[in-house]
Amino acid sequence: MLCLKILVFLLFLHAQPAKPSPIPSESSEDQSTQIAQNYLEKFYHLQVKNYRSSIQNSTDMFVEKLKEMQHFFGLNVTGKPNAETLEMMKRPRCGVPDSGEYMMTPGNPKWKHTSLTYRIVNYTPQLFQADVETAIEKAFQVWSGASPLTFTRTTEKEADINIGFFHRDHGDNSPFDGPNGILAHAFQPGQGIGGDAHFDAEEIWTVSSKGYNLFLVAAHEFGHSLGLSHSTDPGALMYPNYAFSDPNTYSLPQDDINGIQAIYGPSNNPIQPTGPSTPTACDPRLTFDAVTTLRGEIFFFKDKFFWRRHPQQQVLDLNFISLFWPSLPNGIQAAYEDSDKDLVFIFKGNHYWVMNGYDIQQGYPRDISNFGFPSTVRAIDAAVFYRGKTYFFVNNLFWRYDNRRQSMDQGFPKCTSIAFPGIRSRIDAVFQENNVFLFFSGPNYYAFDFTAQRVIRHGRSNLWLNCR
Ligand SMILES: [Zn+2]
Ligand SMILES: [Zn+2]
Repeated sequence: MLCLKILVFLLFLHAQPAKPSPIPSESSEDQSTQIAQNYLEKFYHLQVKNYRSSIQNSTDMFVEKLKEMQHFFGLNVTGKPNAETLEMMKRPRCGVPDSGEYMMTPGNPKWKHTSLTYRIVNYTPQLFQADVETAIEKAFQVWSGASPLTFTRTTEKEADINIGFFHRDHGDNSPFDGPNGILAHAFQPGQGIGGDAHFDAEEIWTVSSKGYNLFLVAAHEFGHSLGLSHSTDPGALMYPNYAFSDPNTYSLPQDDINGIQAIYGPSNNPIQPTGPSTPTACDPRLTFDAVTTLRGEIFFFKDKFFWRRHPQQQVLDLNFISLFWPSLPNGIQAAYEDSDKDLVFIFKGNHYWVMNGYDIQQGYPRDISNFGFPSTVRAIDAAVFYRGKTYFFVNNLFWRYDNRRQSMDQGFPKCTSIAFPGIRSRIDAVFQENNVFLFFSGPNYYAFDFTAQRVIRHGRSNLWLNCR
């Protein structure tokens, strides 16, 4: 099977014209290989010429580069263009290749002066000029806040960093590809084109969560303009793929602060900035914000991320909340699945949202007072649905909501530790499977058998993330 696959791939390679020709649907394997090959040529320096020279070399090179890509993105390193790899390759991203070097561009080019100038060469008709200028200015502030660098706008041609919007082939050997795919690219510090940042004029540029937020893409590109290369940290600004994050509350991640300070030294500010760090699944101190099932999968929420666990496959992936649900906030506090109605409820502060599958329903967020909480309850720690009832945990108490009658049951709140013997501390998150409530409290979980009315096992929370 493997041999056949490689042979088919090679035949296809030799036969292919310069542009991929339409591929019949039964050749989806060829198609996958073609997508992977294009991606690796663009972002991993896979050279078609070299690997045509011998069948063995070409296959080795392709597999090696594919493995490098899979390793970079934290995927299973199979050397095969499988579904999760292709999925990653289809995400919108920066046009700069993913260097093998960590943090700094090979050769470590950097600006010799710290007071840099920039010029906006042209604008996009999709945004007001003032909005473009504000987005660019804010994007530079992300970096000036974490380093000794300053940025001043100029209209002079001698600016260090020239910024513009360009279509397709624009004379720098790195043509844009129209909507989606490559969004922008930038050049490492240096004379001439060095430091310049180019944006694909065919993208939908915005100042919101729709399309591509210009501030976020510009902040990433300016990282390259200053000498940073791509980071493998999925929470870093210098991660190659686009992810929306609210510009109004944006804070440069710690990985990027470390990166820029490794090149230019600390900020002149007496108090050094600190930024958010990406949670790591096997950190023994890991706690969850909220956990819920969703159509057979389990979602573990943490800050602006969630892990998604597929029960049968034991596969786990870390994603941005904003990638799946741009209108949801970070730091979700509670979530539960009403399996009777196929709805998932998401809570933060006094607000909640309702999703059917992955689609947020119209008219949300709404206020949690709709459930009949007293006005003193302004946030929920954890929630779980079980046999038509929703259990809401707040501090050391819980309420029970009847979903059929749509009101709170009488006699609540009750003490969690009395109703659930063995659950002594405050709960961060809970979900239910097979009549067992899985409570998460700090870095530990407790499996409470509802029928037996006792804790049947407990352990580290991140056992659920395949950490042993
Ligand atoms: Zn980039
Ligand atoms: Zn360009």
